[in-house]
Formats: sequence, structure tokens, C-alpha cells
Amino acid sequence: MIEFDLTIGGAPVKTARRFEVMNPATGTAAGLAPNAGLAELDAAVAAAKAAFRDWSRKPDAELQAMCEAVAAKIGEHAEELAQIITTEQGKPLNGLGSRWEMGGAAAWAGYTAGLSLRVKVLQDNAEGRVELHRKPLGVVGSITPWNFPVMIAIWHIMPALRTGNTVVIKPSPNTPLSTLRLVQIINEVLPAGVVNVVTGDDQAENLGAAMSAHPDIRKVVFTGSCATGQKVMASAAQTMKRLTLELGGNDAGIVLPDADPQAIAEGLFWGAFINNGQTCAAMKRLYVHESIHDAVCAALVEFARNIPVGDGRDETSILGPVQNRMQFDKVSRLVADAKERGTVLLGGAPDAGLFFPPTIISGLKNGDPLVDEEQFGPALPVISYSDVDAAIAAANDSPNGLGGSVWSSDPEAAKAVALQLECGSVWINKHGAIQPNAPFGGVKSSGLGVEFAEEGLAEYTDIQTVFS
Ligand code: NAD
Repeated sequence: MIEFDLTIGGAPVKTARRFEVMNPATGTAAGLAPNAGLAELDAAVAAAKAAFRDWSRKPDAELQAMCEAVAAKIGEHAEELAQIITTEQGKPLNGLGSRWEMGGAAAWAGYTAGLSLRVKVLQDNAEGRVELHRKPLGVVGSITPWNFPVMIAIWHIMPALRTGNTVVIKPSPNTPLSTLRLVQIINEVLPAGVVNVVTGDDQAENLGAAMSAHPDIRKVVFTGSCATGQKVMASAAQTMKRLTLELGGNDAGIVLPDADPQAIAEGLFWGAFINNGQTCAAMKRLYVHESIHDAVCAALVEFARNIPVGDGRDETSILGPVQNRMQFDKVSRLVADAKERGTVLLGGAPDAGLFFPPTIISGLKNGDPLVDEEQFGPALPVISYSDVDAAIAAANDSPNGLGGSVWSSDPEAAKAVALQLECGSVWINKHGAIQPNAPFGGVKSSGLGVEFAEEGLAEYTDIQTVFS
């Protein structure tokens, strides 16, 4: 049994109650997490608020050096954290699994440590000097989901620290253990109270809701579903919190008639099935020109049928189980419905426990639930189209706007289509490839603000304009 305490003010804190965390591959308890309530949340916010005074006044070079020390710690503990992620999240150690997630976490931490927001001189002439300063906000509340627990925690924590803020993080009740350990590790190199963690089971008390309304939290950075993001935004209004919301997506991929089915099959597969489709910016609908529809489906199925699915702790597994029962039931419902409407090319029925095989279903259209809803699981609907403009319109006919992709042998033609997609990121001949030097965020209902790069860093600051 894995078990960790909360970390508040640099010290371990036990709670009266704990809750079980399941290993989705086995359905058995993997660990116990503290079931914190509002008292522990208040203590964590108070610790972060107290730590803010010194942390926010540190010279920029010192903040950078401390962030680099955090990044180094994450690298040192990568394998330990990968093992915990696999145990509670289910994703395999290998493939695009937990070791890959930790590689990303270390890379993002290191890159973000090296970023800096310098004072900008807007004017310096006989009429006067005008400077734009970026100032830290105070306590940042981070609320994370269960799909990439450590990588997303790093996406939230690092830019907050680098800009002089302090943090209270609250992971998903489905995957709290890796974040509890992550915060212990980074506290080895940070002053007490700079990063604190609370965990709860979202039952009697909802810590995320309380954070969104907390008067001493100045900003919430939230990654999760659209529905919860809307609640966060509503309750943040009272205290005028700054918000970064990274919400759900229903990303479309469009395959143009000149694409080479064999050449794109692997990229299409991983674009859709990374982390079993439980990825915000995974490809969740695939529009293929009718002239190559059958060839693309055949190449995709051929690639997908050779992917080993199994317990993530088995070194040979490349995909694991669906993370939780709620998500599994959602995928099962959408696939059962899609089977009535289209043609199952691969998979199509649940396996034992929370295992669901990679599923590809053709013959669907906009209006079908598997096309319209975010499945967030290993099931890809394929839609045949005859007219590119109609495919673009169908791709844009969604309240979401996180990512999109266009696949073609002519990158310029693909870019012309890509620019017409209503989404925050768009890829040519790949899908979902994010990097720490490029802003990432959703348009429409997929969110507010961006993460990564200088633009993401700036979201953890207020502007102060100095006129002299
Ligand atoms: P979720 O919205 O159910 O939960 C996210 C977090 O919010 C959890 O920590 C949860 O405990 C907390 N929470 C629950 N109720 C709350 C409330 N009332 N107020 C504040 N916080 C509350 O999402 P999930 O099921 O964990 O994650 C899956 C969703 O996240 C998908 O829709 C996916 O697309 C999205 N996602 C988006 C991104 C992105 O960057 N855009 C990345 C990963 C996941």
C-alpha cells in the first residue's frame, strides 16, 4: 500500500480520515490518501500566504536557481514517480506512458525555470519613461485531473513559482498519490510553505470548489472538464480571481485526398490513442476524404491491432486500462450506441475489468454521440467526406476548440485548411505534439488563457505600469 501525508508549510500533516486509491489494472486498492477538509485547506492557504512574503521578494536569479533545483529533483525521482503514476493511473511504464510523462515533466520544469519576464520599457523620451513590470499574484490554487497527474502538476506549479507566487495544489481523487509524493520531493529544495498539497475524495467536502471561492487564493489554474471549469469560473467571480482554464476538447483531424494512408497511419493512431484517448488534445474525430477512406481505415486498423494492451506494470504493455469506472462507462455507452449507427473496424466491446480495446468505428457523422461528445477513451469515430469545405464546417461544428490537425502530402495546402479550424493549436501531419516553448490553450468552450512559454508565464502575474 502506498501512503503519503499532506505537505503543509513544509511539514507532513496527517488527517483523521483517509480514502482508498484504486489500481485500475487490478481493481484493488493501490494506496491511501489523506481525506482533507476545509480546515486543512485553510491551513495550506495560510502557509502559502505566509511564504509568499519572502518568496516573492527573492531576486529573479535566486527564483531561477531554486526552480532549476526543483527541476533537478524531478529528474532524480523520475523512476519512483513513474512507478506511482502507473500504479494509480494505469498507464504503462513504457510507450507514451508514465516514464514518458516524467520525461515531459522534467523537460517542462527545466525549460520553465529558464524563462524570465523582464521589465519592458514602453517609452523613454523627453515626455517621460514608462515601464511595464510583471508582479506575482500571491497564492495560486492548482486543480489537476487524473490523466497526466504529474506532468499537469508541473505545468501549473513551475510557472507559478518562477514568477514569485506560492502554491496550493489539489490533485484528482483518482490519482492523488503521485502528486503527494511530488510535493514532498520538491519541498526538499524549497522554503517551507512555497508549495503545499491537499487531497480529498470530493464527497462530504469539495476542496476544488472551496479553492475556487477562497478569499486568499488570487488565481486558480484548473485543468479538467468543461462542466467543472464553468463552476470554477462562476465561483471565482466573487473574489475576481485570475484564471487559467484548460478544459475538454473534441479535436478533429482532417485527412485530405492527397495523403498517403500508410505514411500517416502511425501518427493518426498515436494522435487519437495516446494515453488510451484520455488526453485533452487527442484526436477525437477523424474526417477522411472518401477517395482514400477505406485505405486509411485499413492502415489504421493494421497498426492498431498490434498494440499490446495490458497491466501497465508489465514492461511489454503499450496501452493500459481506462482510468476509472465513470470514464469506462462513458466509453462503453458511446461505443454501444455507435455500433448501431456505423461499422466496427476494430475492438468495439469492453474487456475484463477496466480494459477496453482500441476501437475504430466508421460510417458515423456529426450528430452521432461518439462524434459530438468528448469520449476521452480508446474509441475513434471515422467520418467519410466528399467536400473539404464541408469537412472544415463539420470539424468546427463543436462548442470545443482545443486542437485540430490536417493530414496531407502538401504541407502548404494543409496549412491553408488548418488556418480555418477554430482551435487553439493545429498540427500538420501530427496531432497533439505540445512543447514548452509554444503557448497551448483552448478557444470557445475549451478554456481561457494559455499555458507554456512566456505567454503562459505572464498569466501568473499582474501588470504594473510605472510612469516617471
Ligand atoms: P474533472 O473536471 O472531473 O476534475 C478535475 C479536477 O476538478 C479534479 O481535481 C476534481 O477533484 C476537481 N473538482 C471537482 N469538482 C470541482 C468543483 N466543483 N470545483 C473545482 N474543482 C472541482 O475532470 P477529470 O475527469 O479529472 O479530467 C478529464 C477532463 O479534463 C476531460 O474533459 C479533459 O478533456 C480535460 N482535460 C483538459 C486538459 C487541457 O489541457 N485542456 C488536459 C487534461 C484534461
